Amino acid sequence: MRDSHFEELKSICNILERREDLSAYTTDGSRISVIPACVALPSTVKEISELMVFASNNHIPVTPRGAGTNVSGGAVGDGIILDLSAMNHVAVHKNYAVAEAGASLGDIDRISMKHGKFFPPSTETLGGTIGGLIAVNATGWRRVRYGPLVEWIDGMEVVFPDGTTTYLRKESFFFRLILGSEGLLGVITRVRIRLHPTGSRYLVRLEMEDMNEVFECIRKFHGHPFTLFLGVEDHPFAVVEVSKDMRIRNQRFCVEDAENLNAVMTHAIRRIYDRGKISFIEDLSIPENRVIDFFRVLKDLEDKYEVEIPLIAHSGGVIHPVVTGQGSRILREKLIEKAVEMDGWIAGESGIGLLKKDFFRRFTGEQLSLLRKIKSLIDPAGIMNFGKFLDI
Ligand SMILES: Cc1cc2nc3c(=O)[nH]c(=O)nc-3n(C[C@H](O)[C@H](O)[C@H](O)COP(=O)(O)OP(=O)(O)OC[C@H]3O[C@@H](n4cnc5c(N)ncnc54)[C@H](O)[C@@H]3O)c2cc1C
Repeated sequence: MRDSHFEELKSICNILERREDLSAYTTDGSRISVIPACVALPSTVKEISELMVFASNNHIPVTPRGAGTNVSGGAVGDGIILDLSAMNHVAVHKNYAVAEAGASLGDIDRISMKHGKFFPPSTETLGGTIGGLIAVNATGWRRVRYGPLVEWIDGMEVVFPDGTTTYLRKESFFFRLILGSEGLLGVITRVRIRLHPTGSRYLVRLEMEDMNEVFECIRKFHGHPFTLFLGVEDHPFAVVEVSKDMRIRNQRFCVEDAENLNAVMTHAIRRIYDRGKISFIEDLSIPENRVIDFFRVLKDLEDKYEVEIPLIAHSGGVIHPVVTGQGSRILREKLIEKAVEMDGWIAGESGIGLLKKDFFRRFTGEQLSLLRKIKSLIDPAGIMNFGKFLDI
């Protein structure tokens, strides 16, 4: 970027360009490192629209960024990092809320709960934003009980690369195109989400002795709305969300509100992280009826590659193997190949990003050129998330 570009950008919105300010933006949950030219911190939709026109006219890459929690290198890039964190207002109405894209899921939960409501797809543990959640179409931990993310979004406002700002209702064709598009087509700026009353939830934590009991637990709850399952090899446990009247035997203790649940999750994730050096965290989608088979595959890979792979898994088939010890590219490839062999997909809820673009090309086949054509129509200058999996 030229000096004149920086000057023009500064006339549009707040800009960070000093090396020390950029360091927080050079990576995300993937640990891939790319140094951007600058960070833009818009506080209004109008500023984003102007920035998009500027970037398109000057062919400068723009990478939208929420909280940078994805593990696939989606929120890093050259050019401008568009940090949405200043746009974080949340307004709760009767049974819905309107949130700016940079609002964290924790903020949404906290504010909604004051009104006796919650946003079911939300799980604040890793602190993602609502814009990021929709951009990667994350499932959340409660998918089986409450349905996929799309059921809880009424519509969203998007700024396209030509600066056009429009509200997309859930029923619209464009809405479906943006959901899960990883910031490749436009910037999500505001979202209308549906809320659910908190009162009907009942969360139970089940402690288990070993992985065999885990398999038993999955079998037992298959067909029931089990919310989350966390497997850690020495002390696996599941957290299950059930209706108030459902009796669960063998429960060690219960938590009845989401704040406590988040504390349990945070503790469990820390237990995994404490087990040793984490080589990488994977994010895969496995059909629900193949999850047990996939756990067996993990066990074989642990033995073959002499690593430990504790995991975090959500009901609905999102699996996050956490590879500790000497993980390698070959092991990552094996995990991804096994997921695809089992009719799963290379990403669960963290996106393709930079990390999996070769896998995306390998497994997408003839759809790739069609997707590129769609991208080139909406983003003819190719600025959005440049370098990612749909480069023209
Ligand atoms: C083990 C594991 C557990 C997880 N648990 C949770 C959890 O409990 N809670 C949670 O929130 N997430 C969780 N995630 C992360 C989740 O999968 C998503 O990565 C996360 O929701 C993305 O939110 P973010 O704000 O951090 O987005 P980022 O990581 O900043 O961005 C992700 C992608 O979305 C794009 N993007 C971001 N914001 C916008 C926008 N406004 N408009 C257009 N594009 C945008 C970025 O360019 C990037 O491609 C987990 C991931 C893993 C691997």
